Amino acid sequence: MSMKGKDVTVFTSLSADEANKLLDDRQKSYEKTEDGYRCRTCGERIMQTTLYISIHIKEFKTCAGPGRVLTVNFPYCPNCEGEPRTARACVHVPQAEWGCSNDYDDR
Ligand SMILES: [Zn+2]
Ligand SMILES: [Zn+2]
Repeated sequence: MSMKGKDVTVFTSLSADEANKLLDDRQKSYEKTEDGYRCRTCGERIMQTTLYISIHIKEFKTCAGPGRVLTVNFPYCPNCEGEPRTARACVHVPQAEWGCSNDYDDR
């Protein structure tokens, strides 16, 4: 899958837990060495870019929310995948949980 120079949507409409698991599984798909992560396919050193995750309210049926965006590190293989121009995603969180969480930064 080539992401090079593209606007990439990594995932949409996941719960925060599902998103964490997906990112965790992605990290685990790379081989950990003394000097960082390596691609299991080509051996290239894994790089990171920024993944912008929009926070959306689960009760809304569409992708809408308070306009907050969370940024996390997003690993990719520069050889097999290439650096995306932008990497975006959204998580859908219950409205009741919104506003009492310290997990999200205002950006
Ligand atoms: Zn959404
Ligand atoms: Zn690779």
